[in-house]
Amino acid sequence: MERLANYINGELSPPVAGRYLDNPEPATGLIYSQLPDSGGEDLDLAVAAAEAAFPDWSAATADHRARVLQRLARLVRDNAAMLARAESVDNGKPISVAATVDIPRASANLEFFAAAATQFHSEAHATDHNTLNYTLRHPLGVVACISPWNLPLYLFTWKIAPALAAGNCVIGKPSEITPMTAYLFSRLCQDAGMPPGVLNILHGTGPGIGQQIVDHPGVKAISFTGGTATGARIAASAAPRFRKLSLELGGKNPSLVFADCDWERTLEGTLRAGFSNQGQICLCGSRVLVEASIYERFRDAFVEQVEAMTVGDPLDPDTSQGAVVSAAHMEKILGCIDTARQEGGRVLCGGGRVQPDAARCRDGWFVAPTLIEGLGPDCRTNQEEIFGPVVSLSPFDGEEDAVAQANATRYGLAASLWSRDVDRCHRMARQLEAGMVWVNCWMLRDLRTPMGGMKDSGVGREGGFEAMRFFTEPKNVCISYR
Ligand code: NDP
Repeated sequence: MERLANYINGELSPPVAGRYLDNPEPATGLIYSQLPDSGGEDLDLAVAAAEAAFPDWSAATADHRARVLQRLARLVRDNAAMLARAESVDNGKPISVAATVDIPRASANLEFFAAAATQFHSEAHATDHNTLNYTLRHPLGVVACISPWNLPLYLFTWKIAPALAAGNCVIGKPSEITPMTAYLFSRLCQDAGMPPGVLNILHGTGPGIGQQIVDHPGVKAISFTGGTATGARIAASAAPRFRKLSLELGGKNPSLVFADCDWERTLEGTLRAGFSNQGQICLCGSRVLVEASIYERFRDAFVEQVEAMTVGDPLDPDTSQGAVVSAAHMEKILGCIDTARQEGGRVLCGGGRVQPDAARCRDGWFVAPTLIEGLGPDCRTNQEEIFGPVVSLSPFDGEEDAVAQANATRYGLAASLWSRDVDRCHRMARQLEAGMVWVNCWMLRDLRTPMGGMKDSGVGREGGFEAMRFFTEPKNVCISYR
């Protein structure tokens, strides 16, 4: 059985204490590899390596850093098929999703921040006629990037690339549930000539090595993507030490469907928003709100589309719905469906565990795509993040009601809006409490835009120069002259 290794000081290193965790394949439920259960000794080595690498990396030209990131981007592209397969096995997602979303976007992240490194700029202000202010932006030093399991390599690279581009050295921690592509990536870092210590990757549990990284005195900033409860814990640990924090957290995102929408495009878009990656994307539209005048017609068409989705072996290129990520997560999702029933929700389709045709997937963790209706905005199903293939449908009556229902959660990550009325779209985009509003689309991204959530969906924004600025300490210089 393959044993993964940490990546410390440019070397693939076994955990110092020799402890490992089992890594199962969600589609089969079988253990197929083991990952380091890293501890404080591994962290001390990684921080020491990063600190030693920092003077040279931070002093290197932007062009030099860009070239390293470009080489990595190219290696990810050249190894895309291998990485997509690994991501699908590790995570349970359809290989088609890994091949068209996760891996190309991981490569694009690296490519984008390679270019951004050479374009990064700072501010200068002339004050009156005799003073000039300018701002220096120094990299912070050793920073932590902690990423979740749902889009493993995509979100891992999204975090580390701006940190590296800005001249920091990184301690990265992928989720213990999906460690494989970060491990394969560390081997690509060796091939890319990444200087030792600039990027270090530690595997292990969140409460274990994750928390130790957050608490380490040598770590100057933490960029975290994950659940809201974990984000709150990390914020509580980091605040007394005044560490910089960027938190990308959960969502309970609405898709708003108006009677004047483009019917086919909206059906396709809301279906994708609801069920991509088995609903395990923070941006998924898990609450579909439909204008009352078309509610029943839309609901019936939506049910038909959901029932037509194939739940199957993630490695089958025709599968559109794979396994959910773990047995524990499957139980959580099934528990949420039970809660919806207890709350009085009607299950329109799905509603339980399902067994795909492929014999090897007999014991895998698959949940049937599920639609529920009949629940008010205050019930738990419409309030709590389920993070699975479960979508709740509700009618609304006019724009005001649509906005009120859309905003009636603690989250504020994303919203999508489906209408052909341009005035309405602008009006509503202003009123929706969401860090990202998509109009007649979903999950399109421009890497230059600031990405992140309002309310309990997080603090800080990632993307573009905003992300690079997070990883720097601004220092103002004010010069008076005569
Ligand atoms: P978790 O919060 O459980 O974990 C995220 C990462 O943090 C993992 O690497 C985890 O390690 C680690 N971790 C857990 N506890 C700690 C701790 N005390 N200290 C430091 N690190 C810790 O989230 P999930 O992995 O379950 O991911 C799903 C969540 O992520 C959803 O809520 C989703 O909405 C959110 N998300 C948000 C996005 C956004 O951009 N806003 C994008 C994608 C996901 P381990 O897994 O090994 O325990």
